[in-house]
Amino acid sequence: MANILWLSAITCNGNSHSFLNLPSLEEFLGRHNFLYHTILPSTFSLRDIFELKVYESIDILVLEGTLDSDLKKFDINFEDILVEYAKRAKYILTVGTCATFGGIFMQKHSNRYGFLYKNYTAHNRFLSFKEKSVSVSGCPILPEILAGVIDMLSSNLPLSLDEYNRPKSFYGWMVHNGCTRNEYFEYKIDNHNFGELEGCMFYEHGCQATYTRGSCNKILWNEVNSKTRVGEPCHGCTEPDFPKDNLWQTTKHMGIPAKLPLGVPKRAYLSLAGVAKAFKIERFYKNILEEGDS
Ligand code: SF4
Ligand code: SF4
Repeated sequence: MANILWLSAITCNGNSHSFLNLPSLEEFLGRHNFLYHTILPSTFSLRDIFELKVYESIDILVLEGTLDSDLKKFDINFEDILVEYAKRAKYILTVGTCATFGGIFMQKHSNRYGFLYKNYTAHNRFLSFKEKSVSVSGCPILPEILAGVIDMLSSNLPLSLDEYNRPKSFYGWMVHNGCTRNEYFEYKIDNHNFGELEGCMFYEHGCQATYTRGSCNKILWNEVNSKTRVGEPCHGCTEPDFPKDNLWQTTKHMGIPAKLPLGVPKRAYLSLAGVAKAFKIERFYKNILEEGDS
């Protein structure tokens, strides 16, 4: 059993709400104890937390939301409280892209940041906690990933992390991996209209899944589906540069996508695309290419 203290900075609570959709939530709550959580039953009140009345051991300190150096609750500076509990916690878990990288609430605010974003600058108060911090990025997070990481940390199972402290067991591949449209990507058959069941959205509709790390097509949302499977492009929400502009469009230069699948050189992409298009496989043409393809 882990003692979990969940602190919320500037947030829409989207990760908390996503977490409530965990299919095995009841079993999870039976395994762990929340010292404090915004929504779930907790041992302490928020005022107790801010008045530092928690003397229990803290196994996992969870941070949700974007940090702001001026943020106060009960007239107490949020960052000061975070540092106090970060010193005591065994692990620090940043939940969601706002907590990890700054996300949407950081846009246009110079005094806002994510826990990890400032980890890479010299003036970060959290730099000394880097070794015990783990990132679960996403907007929102997949509940199964958060529960899996908490279970692994509370069992002292080793976690292999990437350069942003994300567990490779969940962020070790691209969101593209597992999309039911992979065959269309390979043969360069484009989707023309949102919601169409066929065609790939990389070329026309800004799908970022080939350079976004995550498990959205391996662990399905609500155990049912994923965005890209139903015809909504991936917006790259697990990455440090989320959100970008023009989310539903692919920026191109002279017909070539400005951003190519991670690790694929431009020359290789163009050669493969040229060969793939030359196949003109009949069954694809019967389904969606009658309207013409790029
Ligand atoms: S729609 Fe996106 S995730 Fe699916 S195959 Fe195309 S690029 Fe990959
Ligand atoms: S499909 Fe892409 S944008 Fe959507 S939740 Fe997954 S990583 Fe985020």
